[in-house]
Amino acid sequence: MAQVRCPYCHEYIDRAEFAAHEAAHRKSRPDGQQTDYATLPEEEREDGDLEGVPQVYVHRKCGVATGMPEEIIRSYLKNPYMYMADATFCCGCRKHVPFRDCNWVETGEDLQTYTDRLRAAKPDMKPKGCLAAIAFIGAGLIGIVATLC
Ligand SMILES: [Zn+2]
Ligand SMILES: [Zn+2]
Repeated sequence: MAQVRCPYCHEYIDRAEFAAHEAAHRKSRPDGQQTDYATLPEEEREDGDLEGVPQVYVHRKCGVATGMPEEIIRSYLKNPYMYMADATFCCGCRKHVPFRDCNWVETGEDLQTYTDRLRAAKPDMKPKGCLAAIAFIGAGLIGIVATLC
């Protein structure tokens, strides 16, 4: 049977069972975050040190700072099209909020401008057409960025 690689746990799952499998990863936890968030498999992530890469952001509405997990940072540095929801969890509001409403503590830049810049630097990775949709396992990679509270 055809299998797909799960973007959450990176196991190989039968295609017919993937929707239910994915739903379990995306289920909301009591704190409002998803159970798991999509990442690139470890061997495909950006490696090297994260010196100079912003990792903590503040949601302007509530002023609370939230940390971006390293595995997520290393995934979007490699593929900036991975989190197309353009939203991230706010530990203050306990919900997902738009990138544009958050600013990096380290640089002051808003997360949408930052992400757009990463994408502009890698136009060749932009998903296009239905081939890309298959490669991206439906909505699996269009997840929402996770956070550390
Ligand atoms: Zn999985
Ligand atoms: Zn907030």
